[in-house]
Amino acid sequence: MAFDLHVDTVRWRSHLTTLAEATAGLVPVVKGNGYGFGRDRLAAEASAFGADTIAVGTYAEVPGALEAFDGDVMVLTPWRPFTTDVVLDPRVVHTVGRVADVAALADHPGTRVVVEGETSMSRHGFDRHELAAAVAALGDLQVDGFAVHLPLTGGHLGEADRWAAALDASRLETTTFFVSHLTPVELTELRERRPHLTVRPRIGTSLWLGDLAALEVRGTVLDVHAVARGEQVGYRQGAVHRDGHLLVIAGGTSHGVGLEAPKAAAGAVARGKSLARGGLEAAGRSRSPFTVDGRQRWFVEPPHMQASMVFLPAGARVPAVGDTVRAAVRYTTSTFDAVILD
Ligand SMILES: *Cc1c(COP(=O)(O)O)cnc(C)c1O
Repeated sequence: MAFDLHVDTVRWRSHLTTLAEATAGLVPVVKGNGYGFGRDRLAAEASAFGADTIAVGTYAEVPGALEAFDGDVMVLTPWRPFTTDVVLDPRVVHTVGRVADVAALADHPGTRVVVEGETSMSRHGFDRHELAAAVAALGDLQVDGFAVHLPLTGGHLGEADRWAAALDASRLETTTFFVSHLTPVELTELRERRPHLTVRPRIGTSLWLGDLAALEVRGTVLDVHAVARGEQVGYRQGAVHRDGHLLVIAGGTSHGVGLEAPKAAAGAVARGKSLARGGLEAAGRSRSPFTVDGRQRWFVEPPHMQASMVFLPAGARVPAVGDTVRAAVRYTTSTFDAVILD
């Protein structure tokens, strides 16, 4: 018990299978911190709901994925000649987005690639006019599909459809179209417009984090101290502004617990009001992610490496050492001590 992610497993898996069943051709994205769960756990879940392919972010993530998953592993970061940890394997599908890279990779005949188009994201991929040159450079590479990565903001069906047309007009020998960030409605519409294409959505967030009610992050209360107004505490020896309790809670910078702009006291007026009240906010302090006795509480000072000091004003119900309290965190930037499948 420290800073842990608790998963209501039945509820979480029910969301995973529902989404997987409703999403033909789904390619689960398993990258980075594994959306808080860890990549191996997600690879195992993807196997369980029958995915034939997962997508990882980088080549560094490939060896673990090949171990944890029996199917194909697509790498979302495009192949580059200077990448030192490239894994050439019959189950690995590379992404290519530059003519020179295609030509270099063609030295390894039979290597599997998806050809990426550069969307309005402006991240990676071929310009529409470069596709012919890309096709000419492919040699004996095996083309597993064409891919586009669309912005998160939605409303990009038209752009996806223009790329589908570009794929049709190209001489790429594939009818598989990998897309990122289309809504279910947009996917249906795209399939209706382009029935000859196999549209395969690559999805991370709305799959793994699509039912947040199945998830709960909890930090363990490691210590509780009664403090009086004016008492100096912490690394920085700041004075507490009211009587109350100081809670030391598991969860610090190494878990991704950080400082966000104070919300309640953001503006000058709010700041002035809180100054008048003499609250902690007045010192320009920040709200912690921890909820204690029904309210999100303030940090006493910036979080430490593995724990945070949080102020609980007099009158609030004081937790006991060993109790856990809820934390509201961003899953893609959090590192949990344990993922507990309840
Ligand atoms: C990360 C990533 C995804 C998945 O994004 P989510 O928003 O987590 O669904 C899809 N496609 C590409 C190219 C990505 O890099």
